[in-house]
Amino acid sequence: MGEFISMILCRNCGSRWVEIAEWSRDGKAILHCRTCDAKEEMGRFTLGRCQVTRAELENARTTKARKDKYEK
Ligand SMILES: [Zn+2]
Repeated sequence: MGEFISMILCRNCGSRWVEIAEWSRDGKAILHCRTCDAKEEMGRFTLGRCQVTRAELENARTTKARKDKYEK
């Protein structure tokens, strides 16, 4: 068994290609979706990278949080 992780998915297009492409002047990470080019600031969280299996990626997709579903 592996370790539990949370994964960031783009809410605009569902892509997993989310990265921190730049930082704001006040030190916030700017999340960027490489698929649809959406951007959003994130102040108190950051990203790490690792590899997961295709099956685990699919798990992340099917359990992704939505308002009033899975996670609040
Ligand atoms: Zn996207």
